Amino acid sequence: MNAREPLGTKEELDFLKRLKLEFQDAIQFINKEVEVVEKGFIQLLEGPFRQLIVRFPVQMDDGSIKMFTGYRVQHSRVYEPTKGGIRFAPDVDLDLITALAFDMTLKCRVVDLPYGGAKGGVCCDPKKMSRRELDKLTRRYAFEIFPMIGPDADVPAPDVGTGEVEMGIIYDTYKMFHPKSPHAEAVVTGKPLNLGGSEGRTEATACGGAYVLEEAIKQGHIKGLNSLKDATVVIHGFGNAGYYIAKILNEEYRCRIIGIADSKGGIYSQEGLNPKDVLNYKEKISAKKSVVGYDGLQQLNEEQLFTSPCDILIPAAKETQILGAFADDIEAKVILELANGPTTNFAHEILIDKKIYVIPDILANAGGVTVSYFEWLQNKAGESWELSQVKEKLRKKMITAYTNISKFAKDYNLDMRKAAFAFAILKAIKVLQNRGIFP
Ligand code: GLU
Repeated sequence: MNAREPLGTKEELDFLKRLKLEFQDAIQFINKEVEVVEKGFIQLLEGPFRQLIVRFPVQMDDGSIKMFTGYRVQHSRVYEPTKGGIRFAPDVDLDLITALAFDMTLKCRVVDLPYGGAKGGVCCDPKKMSRRELDKLTRRYAFEIFPMIGPDADVPAPDVGTGEVEMGIIYDTYKMFHPKSPHAEAVVTGKPLNLGGSEGRTEATACGGAYVLEEAIKQGHIKGLNSLKDATVVIHGFGNAGYYIAKILNEEYRCRIIGIADSKGGIYSQEGLNPKDVLNYKEKISAKKSVVGYDGLQQLNEEQLFTSPCDILIPAAKETQILGAFADDIEAKVILELANGPTTNFAHEILIDKKIYVIPDILANAGGVTVSYFEWLQNKAGESWELSQVKEKLRKKMITAYTNISKFAKDYNLDMRKAAFAFAILKAIKVLQNRGIFP
């Protein structure tokens, strides 16, 4: 168990600190078992190389003027442009965005996309804002981060609290100021289809996760789980990733979705839930816009949901959700991390001791940025690919990534998270070495 990160301490709960510990562990492993790497490149890769903080006003519907703080962080120049989503949430701060940008650098190496890592965000509560206020906030934030973004410099995308509407606004704002830019739509991915978005982008994170899960089962890596048919699934988070993974696993793979939770609480049904009906309830019927109360089911708190017996547990909300405090009570065969950083290092060690197969975030949720890459390629080439083509290419990428990481894990006797980290870091350092140091 990780002695440096005792249960429930600030260290356990701090995503950036956790990532740095994982990074140090991976470097130690690489130096000992693979090859000794130049210290300078390690420091370079620890990043970030650029952080922008912006403060800007938005006129609210009641006429008042409210100040917001936004961020854009570019973590590494392993390749350019840098790439990563934009998060609108009340807990957004510089450390969180920096950690998420770090994650993007590693994720892009896992799926082998020619991008460096970046992330952005605004500290706000989109659930408490009107559509008009959010539109204004998005447009002003996009303008404020102009020094960073561009089709060949840094390309944002959706993340928690943002989606295709926001991406359309970012594109429009950029285009207004760069009218002669030939492929201005490549400044952002996850756009609506009629603005150069890609088929399959909305469900890409979930779809990529499903391909990886299917492959893990096919390769016989999940003890006691030989097929997705009738497998029981518990999902934490019912936003984009959570909803689509529920839908895909239920409709395409015939899994039984027995638990779903959002930020307000969870529901559980041994017979299985219909994801479409639950979404309809959350969006159209529930006054609180929550799954809680669906079909009169009893409400579960987060810990109860995470520890409900199931075959597949899917954290699909945000970072720091699976904690050491209850990791020992988790009874899943596999954890598919669709959220970024949902499991603390301490909890992860417990899960590994319990022989639960954890498919780490930088592999499990890399389908999102992969289809973002496809969208960017289509924009640059003036093409639009069919859904079947996008899905086939995504499947190939995810299966290759899974196969590479699981082989690395086997070769060096590592768990999947340690393997994914070390694999990604090694790849990134090789690119940095080949680029050399300027001047
Ligand atoms: N926000 C997503 C992620 O965390 C997607 C990033 C992108 O498409 O650039 O991977």
